[in-house]
Amino acid sequence: MSTKAANGAYDIVVIGGGLVGTSLALALHPLGLRVALLEAATGDNTPAPATDQRTLALNWGSRQILEGIGAWCQVEPLASPIHRLHVSDAGHSGITRLDRTLIGQSALGYVVPAHSLSAVLAAQLKTCGTIDHYTPAICDQVSVTDTQAVVRCSATELSLTARLVVLADGGRSTLRQQFGLDACEKAYDQAVLVTTVLTSKVHGQLAFERFTLGGPLALLPLAGPRFALAWTLPADQAPVLASLPESIFLAKLQHCFGDRAGTFLSATARHVFPLHLTDVPNAATERAVAIGNAAHVMHPVAGQGLNLGLRDVAELAERLQAAHHEEHDIGSTAFLTAYVAARRGQTRRVLSFTDGLVRLFSNNVPGVGLVRNIGLNLLDIAPPIKRTLLRRTTGLAGRLPRLARGLPLQTHAKTPAVPHG
Ligand SMILES: Cc1cc2nc3c(=O)[nH]c(=O)nc-3n(C[C@H](O)[C@H](O)[C@H](O)COP(=O)(O)OP(=O)(O)OC[C@H]3O[C@@H](n4cnc5c(N)ncnc54)[C@H](O)[C@@H]3O)c2cc1C
Repeated sequence: MSTKAANGAYDIVVIGGGLVGTSLALALHPLGLRVALLEAATGDNTPAPATDQRTLALNWGSRQILEGIGAWCQVEPLASPIHRLHVSDAGHSGITRLDRTLIGQSALGYVVPAHSLSAVLAAQLKTCGTIDHYTPAICDQVSVTDTQAVVRCSATELSLTARLVVLADGGRSTLRQQFGLDACEKAYDQAVLVTTVLTSKVHGQLAFERFTLGGPLALLPLAGPRFALAWTLPADQAPVLASLPESIFLAKLQHCFGDRAGTFLSATARHVFPLHLTDVPNAATERAVAIGNAAHVMHPVAGQGLNLGLRDVAELAERLQAAHHEEHDIGSTAFLTAYVAARRGQTRRVLSFTDGLVRLFSNNVPGVGLVRNIGLNLLDIAPPIKRTLLRRTTGLAGRLPRLARGLPLQTHAKTPAVPHG
């Protein structure tokens, strides 16, 4: 239970202390705003419990944002870099190879266990000392007046006011509706099975993405001859594969993936996540804005969900810094609508790109396989197209806010973002 005074008045209340909400709180901490972070889970379980078996691919842009909020130096020793990516289509000869030299950076991205990243952010939150962290605090009621929002946690009788409420309460947000933010949702008839596999071959920081008719299969390099596996499967098959004896599971994986990564020798505990798409086209209203999974949930095929959420953090934090400095109303519809408009293009592109990949590669209509094959082979011999694609998926394209350039927010002067790429 928090020791903070109930009925506190804040500039900003962030609801949801997952990876995105916590990152936003950390980004805001130097600005001199009164910020509260509310998290439903208990202190030891936030931002994500140690049992969370997701392994995340962070793109270069996310690395920069973590650098900007001062967390990268703690994350880097826990992260495994991706130097190259091999993309293939099962049953066809089409392949594409992508290399870090195409973006001129030391890595295409990094692989980091979700619970390790969470632990770093949680430790930083504890030491920064300026964010009031309420946990466990399940926010279940919100109301809005002209000048403020009121958020309440009935179980703990906590009531806070804020000029702005940021919803970072995840893809199953119950508060979006209370603020009147409509979501378009689509369930995929797929689930993703995650585990860590040991192989007979050294991977040399090479990642694999193999498209199969059941769904994409990704192998992300970890320390040693180990990969994080994310295997998308038809929803009814994923739990069956997860419960098979290890040797049979490994044989099925070998059959599906082939031997490019060597022989699969062992697998850790397997976990299954159902998949869905959520889009909140208008993610803001008077006094409230949704970010991260509360604003968009996508298929993990291209590993973009958290990357997009961190980019929300970078954009919103920079705008809040400028509005605070200029004494504008940070909860006004005009301010929040401008933020949403700035993020909408990238969000829509990433949602369409990931959804399109799933539909294109899970399609066995005659002729589609041939087109995919030609497409992958053409892409392989077209470095300019690969470069453009990579700059987009690694978070290097478009207008880059300060944090996405690895720079902390400036606490005094207003700093315009620069175009990049
Ligand atoms: C299998 C899998 C693999 C993935 N791989 C990648 C990848 O490689 N790269 C990538 O970029 N993304 C990936 N993602 C997506 C990524 O995990 C998410 O986009 C990201 O974790 C979302 O973070 P969030 O903080 O927005 O939401 P969440 O992690 O859902 O956090 C929301 C938080 O809000 C709290 N909360 C909810 N309701 C309330 C309430 N009423 N009051 C108070 N607190 C509340 C919850 O307890 C939770 O802590 C993957 C996802 C899955 C499932």
